[in-house]
Amino acid sequence: MGIRNGRVVPLYRLTANTILLVTVSLFVCGLHLSKWSMRLKDEELFESDSLCPNPRNLRPLSYMTDNSTLEMVTHDVSYRAGAVEKLLGSVRIPTESFDDHLDPLEFPQYYKNFAVLHEYFRKTYPEVHKTLKLERTAYEYNLVYTWQGTDSSLKPLVLAGHQDVVPVNAETIGQWGYGPYEGVFDGEDIYGRGVADCKALLNSILESVELLIKYGFEPSRTVILAFGFDEEVGGGYGAQTIGEFLLDKYGENGIYAIVDEGGSSVEQLDGTYFALPAVGEKGSLTSLIQLNTKGGHSSVPPENTGIGIMADLIHSVETTPYKPFLDLTNPFLKYLYCMVEHTENDDIGLPRSQIRHYEHNSYAREHVVEWIESHEKFKWLSRTTQAADIFHSGFKVNALPEVSKLYINHRINIGSNCKDTELKIMEQAEATALKYGLGLIYKGETVIEDTTGLGTFHFETSQCLEPAPVSPTHGYPEWEEFAGTVRHILEDITYPGAKIVVAPSITTGNTDTAKYWKLTENIYRYRFSTTNAVTQGHIHGINETISAKSYMNMIAFAYEYIQNSCH
Ligand SMILES: [Zn+2]
Repeated sequence: MGIRNGRVVPLYRLTANTILLVTVSLFVCGLHLSKWSMRLKDEELFESDSLCPNPRNLRPLSYMTDNSTLEMVTHDVSYRAGAVEKLLGSVRIPTESFDDHLDPLEFPQYYKNFAVLHEYFRKTYPEVHKTLKLERTAYEYNLVYTWQGTDSSLKPLVLAGHQDVVPVNAETIGQWGYGPYEGVFDGEDIYGRGVADCKALLNSILESVELLIKYGFEPSRTVILAFGFDEEVGGGYGAQTIGEFLLDKYGENGIYAIVDEGGSSVEQLDGTYFALPAVGEKGSLTSLIQLNTKGGHSSVPPENTGIGIMADLIHSVETTPYKPFLDLTNPFLKYLYCMVEHTENDDIGLPRSQIRHYEHNSYAREHVVEWIESHEKFKWLSRTTQAADIFHSGFKVNALPEVSKLYINHRINIGSNCKDTELKIMEQAEATALKYGLGLIYKGETVIEDTTGLGTFHFETSQCLEPAPVSPTHGYPEWEEFAGTVRHILEDITYPGAKIVVAPSITTGNTDTAKYWKLTENIYRYRFSTTNAVTQGHIHGINETISAKSYMNMIAFAYEYIQNSCH
């Protein structure tokens, strides 16, 4: 069934298109890689005037000879019921991550649900646990499975995800249609905390590997499943040590490609479906500003208390946002190119001509950035953001505040960096200090002396994560293979007959992949979905959900992608 059933399709029955695809898939892995690259270079020259070359639909050999397994995954109702039930079992285990993020070695009790999840996976996916080697890195709550390939000269493929979920806000439980950890399938949609982020991804990978083993597939390229346990609180124990473990084992650039969660999945424009894997990720940084002022009785207050001065600073920060710009390396520009090239009409007022001339015309660039700014949906993709998220001050109604603390969280635009982001806030703190006659200390160094005795600002930053290196796309075999498989599932299974374009894009949030940069330049953040999983799936919110159709397509994607990249 599917791969090694010995069924042979006579060559004369295959169409020319099929023969081409069979040839392509033979060249994907192994010794033929250089031929594959050559082919792409020729193609690139041929298509050099295309702003958005769409990857070819890449069907694995098994799909052409006997696609009955894929048919079962996507259309068999009783198979679907079984697969969904397996997913639900894992949703019922509340593997929550909290901001206190305790050390797993000191507080194992805090992580006990992860051990329950591991045992559940062991029972639910027996073939995976018989065939793959399971390792845990520095922390036993990580899961790193290695499916040894037959050709050790090939770099391994990593399929990543995270086991933890964000906690449920107790005040919102009444608004959930079902209990958050009840795990319910209503015949169409699957509900529960973590189902979309990210247990469907984990289960789809495990389920697809289970099927591949069952039907006798042996990967030529080693496949690694890497599931961290604290992504929702930064991945400091999980992905961090998985990254170190893999770096130690395979070396820098020792990994072929990494696919992890992220990216908004499918958008529709003018009848064309755009799949949007993120090949870049914005950076992040937190600014901490503390203002120490003189205390005293509130019956004799100064004209501005510490709170008033901080309010003025926040106002000045918010009324002068970071200047938007769309760097030529920003993958969102590629998405704009794709929209222009693959649609004729739109209802979003795309400045088509200016986008086409973006690279060489400064007027066009200005116009495009203005257009992006006017679109709520897109404006986060071309600017550094600032969100004053936490403010503490004051402790008693008749006492002047002595310490005021402000945290501003930033997501850094592609083409910018932590230094520039920090500089803007620093300049505004400096201007505010001068305005009120206050001192300013920047990371322990005095910038303005407190000569008046009124008080001092202390400015620090933390958690600097530079924008991720942008992964190469068109013309690179790793991308063509990945994106070609995305196109294959969407075009052949999800939306048969529809026009599918796979367009590079970016994600505004961060993922575990920030810990994997040294392993490979080919990082794709993409949780396969038939819709936009972030806006429609209530990720992190009430009634988190994923459609069964999406879930079955996720399994299909992993099933085909492993074959395409490791055949
Ligand atoms: Zn996630």
